[in-house]
Amino acid sequence: MSEGHGIEVAVDRALCIGNGVCVAIAPCAFTLDADMKAAVVDPEAEAEANLLAAAEECPTQAIYLSAGGKPLYP
Ligand code: SF4
Repeated sequence: MSEGHGIEVAVDRALCIGNGVCVAIAPCAFTLDADMKAAVVDPEAEAEANLLAAAEECPTQAIYLSAGGKPLYP
């Protein structure tokens, strides 16, 4: 197994409007839960580019990326 990118992903559920854009872009990393809010599944299973794209495309900027405690996005 190759070494992972180590990116940590968090979702602000208060901001999430459940439109599923992140799930469409990075389906291994995100799912919609029973409340129709995005939940983080397995970010290591997604390419870094997909995580970044999901965060950028989220209409409410509800997705936060970090690595080693340092913010990557926003
Ligand atoms: S793209 Fe943003 S608003 Fe849409 S489901 Fe994902 S986190 Fe929620």
